[in-house]
Amino acid sequence: MLGEKMEENKCEACGMGFRTHDKLMAHNRVAHVAGQEFKCKACGAGFGSQKELMDHNKKEHRM
Ligand SMILES: [Zn+2]
Ligand SMILES: [Zn+2]
Repeated sequence: MLGEKMEENKCEACGMGFRTHDKLMAHNRVAHVAGQEFKCKACGAGFGSQKELMDHNKKEHRM
């Protein structure tokens, strides 16, 4: 088939395209773990935004 569309399985978080839905799901699991792409380096907790992570750092680790 000509011109397989990579866009059909597009990651909503980072815009990467995948050929199959399975690949997209695997990427999601590794790269974005259910909307927790901002990880605390100190304790490993995940957050959905940089701000949440900063707030966490301030409260939990006094950084
Ligand atoms: Zn992604
Ligand atoms: Zn932490």
